[in-house]
Amino acid sequence: MNGFRRFDFIATIAVLWATTLHAERSQTRPPNFVVIMADDLGYQDVGFNGCTTIPTPHIDSLAFNGVKFTNGYVAYPVCGPSRAAFITGRYGQRFGFERNPQYRPTDANMGVPPEETTIAEALAPVGYHSGIIGKWHLGAHEKLHPLSCGFDEFFGHLGGGHRYMPEDLTIQDSDQAKDESESYLTWILRNRKPVRTTKYLTDEFSDEAVSFIDRNRQERFFLFLSFNAPHTPLQATAKYLDRFDHIPNPKRRKYAAMVSAVDDGVGKVLQGLRDNGLIEKTLVFFLSDNGGPEADNASNNGPLRAGKGSVYEGGWRVPFAVQWPGQIAPGQVRDEPIISLDIFATMAALASAPIDSVHPLDGIDLMPSLTDPAQSLPARSLFLRKFDTGSWAVRQGDYKMVIPRKGIDPQLFNLNDDLGENNDVTQDQSAQLDNLDESRQTWMKDLVDPRFEGLIHTKAYQARFKKEY
Ligand code: CA
Repeated sequence: MNGFRRFDFIATIAVLWATTLHAERSQTRPPNFVVIMADDLGYQDVGFNGCTTIPTPHIDSLAFNGVKFTNGYVAYPVCGPSRAAFITGRYGQRFGFERNPQYRPTDANMGVPPEETTIAEALAPVGYHSGIIGKWHLGAHEKLHPLSCGFDEFFGHLGGGHRYMPEDLTIQDSDQAKDESESYLTWILRNRKPVRTTKYLTDEFSDEAVSFIDRNRQERFFLFLSFNAPHTPLQATAKYLDRFDHIPNPKRRKYAAMVSAVDDGVGKVLQGLRDNGLIEKTLVFFLSDNGGPEADNASNNGPLRAGKGSVYEGGWRVPFAVQWPGQIAPGQVRDEPIISLDIFATMAALASAPIDSVHPLDGIDLMPSLTDPAQSLPARSLFLRKFDTGSWAVRQGDYKMVIPRKGIDPQLFNLNDDLGENNDVTQDQSAQLDNLDESRQTWMKDLVDPRFEGLIHTKAYQARFKKEY
């Protein structure tokens, strides 16, 4: 008995000591940050959102060991503007990044404007070493390159997508790619230098992410692991395809294989953090950059209406999870709306990074709420505008206002009992609609027109280019 008591006493002291040490350490040393972004991943294509045909145990582990956000949004329903908003912590509509950029190595305007601050730039003065691995899609001009935007390391491709098999990458000099589709064929860049790669691209990026963690384990780091999978083209190796013999649809089978490769990559990264003793010193986010384009890549947005490109939920509500073992209580499910813009705000607050007061952040620091599950997130509105189609959405509490296209009357949905946005309650809830529209009118006062012509304007751009030269 005494032996047990003595053991208990010693154990209690040890726990108190460890807790005190932990608290002191967490106060003095901000965490590392890893943000893992998938590309065009459907809302219901991860296990933690109910997928049963594609096992994603490693992605799911983030949610089980941390927080699953059921109402996690990105700030735009296609790749480029979503990533621009994430990387600046601000709605891209504020600085004219509202279209997918064309691949134009000669156009310094086709990206995030220099007066905006990226996460990497914000973290640099407080001692962070930042790396991006994978897809950039925020400009192909040298002045818009990741290394010109605050990142210390880059391994990836500058355009909006890429082919996955190394033998397909036939253009050595990425400046020689004439347009977006040719950019898919370029060699991978290590910093500014093209390198010949040998592996399936998703594996290449995952292994590079582990290498980044190993090399920088003594540093305070931010790693943006920006997968281009499972964006088209649908390509996978036998290693991953063989896991999905049970899926008869060949398109869905390839997609599943690509998601499985991403999941393996998440597993490698988490193992890399564990191997280096960093798992409790690292905040890890996982999300998709937009909803699944179901017809293009056989993704599945589950109960959500529409998909990539849409202002309905399927366009911008995405799989979203975060973990920080020892700091964020595990197994949380949060239903309050959050948005990818909150990642910057959360990281900046943890790192005590100075914020440019002229370009204030649009997100909020999630940590006070995540470390105290009884504390709700403050009420706020989330906004979306698509300039070219005149589409709008405003999310506020349970309600969401949608203008699907210019000239169509606003719709109002109560997402709490109508997740699929099938039942327009405009007639019954006109005061609620007015309320959301008022928020929209206030928000739009601060927006500007797009600053560059997007992918959809490629032909007009090329015609003018030829005329000018
Ligand atoms: Ca995307």
